[in-house]
Amino acid sequence: MHHAGAQPALPPWIEEAAAGEPFTLVAVAPHPDDAELGAGATLALHARMGWRVAILDLSRGELATNGTPARRQEEARRAAEILGLAGRYNLALPDGGLDALPEQVAALAAAFRALRPRLVLAPYGTDRHPDHEGAARLVHRAAFAAGLARFPLPLPPHPVERVASYFIHDTVPPSFVVDVSATYALKQAALDAYASQFGPGGTPTLLNRPAFREVLAARDRYFGSLIGATYGEGFVLRNRPPRLASLADLLPDASPAAAARPLGGGPS
Ligand SMILES: [Zn+2]
Repeated sequence: MHHAGAQPALPPWIEEAAAGEPFTLVAVAPHPDDAELGAGATLALHARMGWRVAILDLSRGELATNGTPARRQEEARRAAEILGLAGRYNLALPDGGLDALPEQVAALAAAFRALRPRLVLAPYGTDRHPDHEGAARLVHRAAFAAGLARFPLPLPPHPVERVASYFIHDTVPPSFVVDVSATYALKQAALDAYASQFGPGGTPTLLNRPAFREVLAARDRYFGSLIGATYGEGFVLRNRPPRLASLADLLPDASPAAAARPLGGGPS
């Protein structure tokens, strides 16, 4: 019997991470490579800006058609290096069984308390892969539980300020798009590191058809086009809208005079 108070068997890295510097941004991935697919260039961009950025993989991807957990772990390590991440962790939850179950919520909440992210990126809640949907539910509960003083875990409570969803397979119109033109090559290189998943030679899957990577790049090119950039990654905000100090936040290049200028060619 499990109940909300069950103490999960926590992986050994939790204690070490809790003793280290907090992370600003943590992307939670159901399987190694999902965070790269949806948000790899955004993670690289913010690592380059000096943020402490990590990927937290929920499972080892042991049910995947191609590759072994050991090979995928090595590929994930290499991808994190390419993206410039300060950390990459794995909760070793069951591939094929990810969901907001009490012991999984407790394990992920403990990870959030250890990593202390301000912003969490999670899979979008509707997706063809049931683990991606289960992971979205799991993150939602765990991010909430991480901040509850009375949720019984060994580490002090940590409120996650914001959760945004990234897309893996399925998309909807995003709440915002990050201009990732400058780091898109790093995303491509990080995905190249997953030769067991996307490379040729394995059992044919949805992922290792050449079209898969082409469609992904086309999607990111399309998201870029929505904001006038070459490449973009789209996200959906959960729960709360972003704060605008004024509508000028929607016109970032507008001085007060310039803001009055646009429609229909004013005085010149
Ligand atoms: Zn996945």
